[in-house]
Amino acid sequence: MIRDKLSVLKEYFGHTAFREGQEGLIDAILAGRDVVGIMPTGAGKSLCYQIPALMSSGITIVVSPLISLMKDQVNSLIQSGVRAAYLNSSLSLAQYDLAIKNAKMGAYKLIYVAPERLCTPSFLSLAASVRISLIAVDEAHCVSQWGQDFRPSYMRIPEFVATLPYRPVIAAFTATATKAVRLDIANMLGLREPYSVTTGFDRKNLSFEVVRGAEKFSETVRIIKRNEGRCGIIYCSTRKNVEDVCDKLNERGISCTRYHAGLSDEERRQNQDDFIYDRVRVIAATNAFGMGIDKSNVGFVIHYNMPKDLESYYQEAGRAGRDGEPAECVLIYSTADVQTNMFLINKSLDESDLDPELADTLRRRDIERLRLMNMYCTATGCLREYILSYFGEAAEGYCGNCSNCRAGFEELDVTLESQKILSCIYRLAQRRTALGAKMVCDILRGSTASKITQHSYDTLSTYGIMKDTSSTRIRLITEALEHQGFIRTTGEYSVLSLTREAKRVLTDGERVTVKLPKKKHSESRRERVKLSDGVYSFDIRLFRQLKAMRAQLAAEAKMPAYIIFGDNTLRDLCVKQPADMEALLECSGIGRAKQQRYGKRILEEIRKYREELPEGSDPSQPITAAKIEPKALKGSDMLSKLIRYNSGKLTAVDEELTLGQVADRILECLSVSADKRRIQKEIEGWLVQNGYLTPAKDGLPPDTTILSDEAGIQKVRRISKLGSDYTAIIYPRAAQEFIFENIKDIF
Ligand code: ADP
Ligand code: ZN
Repeated sequence: MIRDKLSVLKEYFGHTAFREGQEGLIDAILAGRDVVGIMPTGAGKSLCYQIPALMSSGITIVVSPLISLMKDQVNSLIQSGVRAAYLNSSLSLAQYDLAIKNAKMGAYKLIYVAPERLCTPSFLSLAASVRISLIAVDEAHCVSQWGQDFRPSYMRIPEFVATLPYRPVIAAFTATATKAVRLDIANMLGLREPYSVTTGFDRKNLSFEVVRGAEKFSETVRIIKRNEGRCGIIYCSTRKNVEDVCDKLNERGISCTRYHAGLSDEERRQNQDDFIYDRVRVIAATNAFGMGIDKSNVGFVIHYNMPKDLESYYQEAGRAGRDGEPAECVLIYSTADVQTNMFLINKSLDESDLDPELADTLRRRDIERLRLMNMYCTATGCLREYILSYFGEAAEGYCGNCSNCRAGFEELDVTLESQKILSCIYRLAQRRTALGAKMVCDILRGSTASKITQHSYDTLSTYGIMKDTSSTRIRLITEALEHQGFIRTTGEYSVLSLTREAKRVLTDGERVTVKLPKKKHSESRRERVKLSDGVYSFDIRLFRQLKAMRAQLAAEAKMPAYIIFGDNTLRDLCVKQPADMEALLECSGIGRAKQQRYGKRILEEIRKYREELPEGSDPSQPITAAKIEPKALKGSDMLSKLIRYNSGKLTAVDEELTLGQVADRILECLSVSADKRRIQKEIEGWLVQNGYLTPAKDGLPPDTTILSDEAGIQKVRRISKLGSDYTAIIYPRAAQEFIFENIKDIF
């Protein structure tokens, strides 16, 4: 048995360092202390009990609520060379008995069990015949009635512990816990002065984005395209939307399957498996999809419709990036989603047989949650901050990795406009009327629509006082006033009313400023959180080759690809290109067992790749793509020299240039005239070779790749002068800077 936790981490799991929170929890468990670990999804909770399990003499019981999670965890452990098994209703009676028998003989270090099994005679007899050193409770919030997923069977845990002749260490883990739930976990599970670690809710690898005023379907296609090679989930609010989106994507040649409650069990299972096993790239689903889905390599989650509250949103969006890789969460917003949700809230309460008073309380709670969800979609500040503070966590006002932060902010004084909007609402209130934001805006802009004249709103003193202000601007300021607490929207029709605070602006002369995201994405894209520093300089071809190999291995093992290796492991292999079995162990995610099992195949794959490289490449060096195709002209002619020697003079501009214009810009900065097409070709070639663009093919120009974002390169939809739709690849400031920084490598 290995006595040192770092060696266990390396030997079994192939990692070299602990993540935040892990070490403290492991040490406490090893010292015999109960623990509570509250860490967000993907933070690495499992290792916190798996490592002590491997370092203790007895066995570890893991209580887990979902069959699919157990299966995934156990399969991963077996892949890592750890003896583990699960006991749940997916096993036949014979399989179950065999597992119990094996367990009694000490065949497993970890046993995953569903809570309702704990107090069954067969499990109790197992418990009586082995030494249990640790009980790990996964998804521990299920023990609390205050949580969203209370499971009465979790109450079996203390009951079970009481049957044991000794008290093992108990370790509880969850990703979601308010204070009430946290106290419940400690109390209900009977923890003794637990050592507790909370690393917070933030999922740093997720980027958040709200898209407004876009055509939903083309936006969806755009997001899928920019995530080339990755899989994703599209959440829709209705079955009909699921069907539509799924059909249209398939028509476009994007493989997509569907999931909603209207399908047969059989089809649902089949479609879910197709997604988990990477047989389709995208799944369109209602919120019925996802519970118990542990697919770790989801690269993006799109919300085609706004969900009913932030709890749902964060949970659903949070299914992206469980492997710690950068992933995108995009919500495509339209105001119509508010009405749909209102309808759904009412429908579900009307159909319930709750007594009317309770139904009414719940209705008010749900409408309030919906209001706060809607505020997220209209927020002008940092989206991550909004989410975190909703869950009661302090956050900085700038994360750099959400659509608002990336756009950059500008602060505007809107005091006068605010006063006009507020007084309009005030005048209406004097007439005992409250209206929605759109009507208020129409009144302020002096609309002559019949719904205005009919009710003689045109006789209000505030009628038409903002004639010259665009309705978009009025809407933005109205939303900002709500965010700042001067206005409230209430009720089913989202009518506006003033809060007490509004007086400060209306009569006390308080100034109102709003922070609005700038129109253009001028802020450097490179401000995005970079999680895998530097590892991007590898040959995308080797990456694809290894990916294909992984798919093969997964098919042979009848397991999802992410259980075999994560993308980060493949990337590390591309960078380090290990040449022998020992060197393999240096790669992230490869421990002893995976080295033994897959090492030969990996080495063979890398050897093949290197053999196919052109002569003259240095095989001892990790090869970056730039070195693969020697450029005839590189560095040798006057133009190249000129550009390299004067590279310091290159400066970017705030415009979205095409690549041809970037070439122009270079010539302009250097004050020379030369063939700009050569410059353009040279840059394009370099971008393609480094995986930032796909090669031009069949007469089509290069396209963006998963790495384009890193280089600040963007794809946009444009309308030509003749009115037809086309996509263009553009190089905003960040992309120009990226190119200029690498200019010496390019020429
Ligand atoms: P959680 O249960 O908190 O959602 P997991 O335990 O499933 O998270 O871990 C998420 C991912 O992070 C897994 O792919 C795991 O291999 C990886 N991971 C965990 N700890 C480490 C570490 N110390 N170094 C590198 N990767 C880690
Ligand atoms: Zn932000």
